[in-house]
Amino acid sequence: MGSVKSVRIGGLEFGGGAPVRVEGMLKTPLEDMDACLAELEALGEAGCELVRAAFPREDLRPNLRALAEKSSLPVMADIHFNYKHALAALDSGCGSIRINPGNMGGRDGLMEVLSAAKSLGAVIRIGSNGGSLSAKQLESCGNDKALALVAAVEEQLIPLVDAGFDDVIISAKSSSVPETVRANFLLAQRHPFPLHVGITEAGPGIDGAVKSAAGLGILLNQGIGDTMRVSLTGESVAEVDTAYAIQRALGIRQRGVELISCPCCGRRRIDVPELVRRVKSLLPKDLRDGTTVAVMGCEVNGPKEAAAADLGIAGTANGFVLFKKGKTVATGEAKDLERILEEFLIG
Ligand code: SF4
Repeated sequence: MGSVKSVRIGGLEFGGGAPVRVEGMLKTPLEDMDACLAELEALGEAGCELVRAAFPREDLRPNLRALAEKSSLPVMADIHFNYKHALAALDSGCGSIRINPGNMGGRDGLMEVLSAAKSLGAVIRIGSNGGSLSAKQLESCGNDKALALVAAVEEQLIPLVDAGFDDVIISAKSSSVPETVRANFLLAQRHPFPLHVGITEAGPGIDGAVKSAAGLGILLNQGIGDTMRVSLTGESVAEVDTAYAIQRALGIRQRGVELISCPCCGRRRIDVPELVRRVKSLLPKDLRDGTTVAVMGCEVNGPKEAAAADLGIAGTANGFVLFKKGKTVATGEAKDLERILEEFLIG
């Protein structure tokens, strides 16, 4: 499904039924170029497809240019309050910018930005955020935050559409799952543009991952959302990993290996958490996307419960059993585990 319209950033299609793109964000300030490039490389390896970088000051222009030139990923510059920064970012080779058309210094500044973006074929992302809704916006929507998020997006969209600029990605985010979901359902019904989806300020670790999975799961399962970023208080690579884990769980995209492991009841014959760690560390990087690997605590239910796994391991009274698609392919004692695992995982 996805949006009616699609846009291209750095040759990659967003929306219009293209795969749901996974975005990342540089958490390193642009001042520290070495760290930025290292983070960029790690994001690329994790499968990030568009990286956002904050561009808060004109004097960082050489760094932004170097980043855009050296990056193998398309870059989106995040601009606030100054249309000249937007022009500088476009001139520096960023294929996309995120702006608020309302704070580009008036109509003339915005028109300059639109004209530069148009001539360079750049994409503009606009959007609303629950934290920055004004009292007036909320009041005009009867304090319904989801409606106010939609109204705030439309307020930003009008000048772009009026100017005939439609290489646009739109977004409405809140830290509330129900508000974000409702706002995005409405936006998807009302506008043809690709939707960037995310739960903003979702929090750290498991809390942030669960919140993101709950909100994005509802939307993506209904075909709403063309590009996503998971927002976590933590490493940027973890955001990308979580985004792919959400897509894998929904059966939308299969990048990477799906690891299945049992919750370890009283029947367990093997230390499952430790084995999961060992299996993870042994997984070859070039395994086919979508390969499922199961780690189960016992042979009584394990192979049956994980019958669909491409490769699985279950504990037995004396050691373990290895199975492929539910069929036993090897058995061994605990001492043989490492060797046999390597044999089957590395080949
Ligand atoms: S696989 Fe075995 S140990 Fe794991 S939850 Fe199922 S029955 Fe329990």
